Amino acid sequence: QAKEAGRNTVCFYDPALQKALEERTLLENELRLATEKEQLRLNYQLQYNHAGRVIGAEALIRWLHPEKGLIPPFNFIPLAEQTGLIIPMGQWILKTACQQLAKWANSPSTDSLTLSVNVSARQFREDSFVADVKEALYQYQVNPKRLKLEITESIILEQIEQTILKMLELREIGVSFSMDDFGTGYSSLQYLKRLPLNQLKIDQSFVQDITTDNEDSVIVKTIIAMGQALSLDIIAEGVETLEQQKQLEQYGCRTYQGYYFAKPSPIDVCMLEITRANTDSSR
Ligand code: C2E
Ligand code: MG
Ligand code: MG
Ligand code: MG
Repeated sequence: QAKEAGRNTVCFYDPALQKALEERTLLENELRLATEKEQLRLNYQLQYNHAGRVIGAEALIRWLHPEKGLIPPFNFIPLAEQTGLIIPMGQWILKTACQQLAKWANSPSTDSLTLSVNVSARQFREDSFVADVKEALYQYQVNPKRLKLEITESIILEQIEQTILKMLELREIGVSFSMDDFGTGYSSLQYLKRLPLNQLKIDQSFVQDITTDNEDSVIVKTIIAMGQALSLDIIAEGVETLEQQKQLEQYGCRTYQGYYFAKPSPIDVCMLEITRANTDSSR
């Protein structure tokens, strides 16, 4: 075949590339079955206020692969988006999150917690997205005020009008919206101004060096001031040290998520931590 392609064309049989392609196809087929085979899990990472109380959580998906063990989302969410598998998977995520919210609603110690769910751009663009969210809420009789949807700036790269309409339709019933990884996308403040957001989530890349890098510190300070001026809630993600938390607090950020407080964990572990954090009489 290399010969037929002509004298000036070099054609390689690349075993490494071939292997990568085969692995991708295999992974895609396995991922297709993962939802049916109940290999998907939601971990939860708790969110805290400045008094150290848990005020909510973010649901983070994991794939419990039979041979490869726990696979992090960065290794399969992009593939799920490319293949469209994110649609059934996203629906499973929404339903499982609502099921958890329904459980929380049964106890006064957890009934005011919010649950943040990540929504991929492909999932959001689906015509049935609004109906899918409503169906999940309805199925588990969940108060929509407890559900927060995390979107990224990539969502608005196209179809800003449709994005706004979908958000308004869900906001009307009480669902809120957070802009995830804020500051890392390409969208202009002009677009952001028009989106009916409730919260900005400061990206962890800015938080990471906030105590050592003057530029990151200025950026974070500015995001917080802008959020406050626009009446948006602010949460910082990736908070790993007390020093980072103190600095964020000094800048006016009162809600935190990160390893310093709690790692993403199965729900049982989270429930113990909620009890500890929210009943400690010293607070
Ligand atoms: P994200 O939504 O920005 O989630 C934050 C990521 O930062 C999580 O990684 C979390 O485990 C990690 N993280 C939390 N605290 C710290 C910290 O203090 N330090 C550091 N270095 N990292 C921290 P994870 O769970 O691997 O998720 C990665 C990304 O995958 C998420 O980023 C989100 O974009 C996507 N993802 C996760 N779950 C879902 C889902 O259910 N649906 C969709 N569409 N995407 C998801
Ligand atoms: Mg997120
Ligand atoms: Mg994020
Ligand atoms: Mg991130």
